[in-house]
Amino acid sequence: MKKKHIISEFKKLLRYAEQQPCLHEDTYRGGAIWEICRDCDMKWADDEGGKPDDAHELPKEILDAHRVLEFLD
Ligand SMILES: [Zn+2]
Repeated sequence: MKKKHIISEFKKLLRYAEQQPCLHEDTYRGGAIWEICRDCDMKWADDEGGKPDDAHELPKEILDAHRVLEFLD
């Protein structure tokens, strides 16, 4: 198998994996202290710091895979 085929398959796998984690982009207020994600129902309490700033970031495993891909490409 040629390197470009490996890279192509790897990119497909990454695209698939990136569909899985919820980015919590659509949230609503619930009760007095809750911020709740409409997509996955995860919730954050204001008195525990609220939604973390990195809630939108991709998981470390996917970021690592992007670094590997850049190295190959
Ligand atoms: Zn979510």
